[in-house]
Amino acid sequence: MTANPPDMAMPVPPQETDATLHFTGPATFGRVPRLDQVGTTDIAVVGVPFDAGVSYRPGARFGSNAVREASRQLRPYNPAQDVYPFHYAQVADAGDITANPHNIDAAVESIEEGTDALLSTGAQLMTLGGDHTIALPILRSVARRHGPVALLHFDAHLDTWDSYFGTQYTHGTPFRRAAEEGLLDTSALSHVGTRGSLYSKEDLDEDTKLGFGIVTSADVMRRGVDEVVQQLKERIGKRPLYISVDIDVLDPAHAPGTGTPEAGGLTSRELLEIVRGLSDCHLVSADLVEVAPAYDHAEITSVAASHTAYELISVMSRQIAFFRWLEANEQS
Ligand code: MN
Ligand code: MN
Repeated sequence: MTANPPDMAMPVPPQETDATLHFTGPATFGRVPRLDQVGTTDIAVVGVPFDAGVSYRPGARFGSNAVREASRQLRPYNPAQDVYPFHYAQVADAGDITANPHNIDAAVESIEEGTDALLSTGAQLMTLGGDHTIALPILRSVARRHGPVALLHFDAHLDTWDSYFGTQYTHGTPFRRAAEEGLLDTSALSHVGTRGSLYSKEDLDEDTKLGFGIVTSADVMRRGVDEVVQQLKERIGKRPLYISVDIDVLDPAHAPGTGTPEAGGLTSRELLEIVRGLSDCHLVSADLVEVAPAYDHAEITSVAASHTAYELISVMSRQIAFFRWLEANEQS
């Protein structure tokens, strides 16, 4: 044991009555308390079970709960980041934001209202989708609180297309809309894990014009995780950072349960290591989307997703604890 939970107002951690019974009872993320059990929280894990914005296989509406189920075995100490994520800060499961499955515009509006309500309490968000459409209303709320944010977007796809069948809000368009609406700091936008076929060469030109840099899946393989992390950190700097993870960034061998699979993706080890490498970036909120459990096997995808969310929560929790410690020491 090298680290102990810091001595401060103690957050309510997951129930550890009997470590062998992680598989019992209603699932919250990592068995953390529900938000109504603790009142307020530093980090809210919230589901957005909406998938009416997909272009291929549907089913991500069942992703939020699949990730919760697959997160039962997460343990209190994260050695990779030397952090007790559920003890350093209060983490609570805020349940789901209800979004109209028949009307995308109405869904986008209610997701924005739901995230506004959580962010206004001072909480940071770890959102479990849902398809990628949900990133737009979340980014609207996040930008209202932090101003335009740096964006790190893990995805096989660009998601900066203009429209599908004339529809502006889809899972393939959130970051085009976010850039148009001024929600992003265009000097610090990166896609990671990009690969696969496109509609046209112009897709890339238009993406570049929006300000995105691309680290392809092949770049990660050729250059390695450490060099990629270094490059991303230089781009992000000290800006407030939002991370959006589309689980299809992983190879279908690591994430079969998703709506738009593409061969040649990252391993779950590479994804986890890149996130860990960003532990000193100023992460303000994150989402993890596109888990579609109907195409999953043996929880391969939802386990990878829950562990990725655990790393993201660890990054946020560690920083919250650090800033509290700093504040306490400045006062004394
Ligand atoms: Mn994708
Ligand atoms: Mn996506």
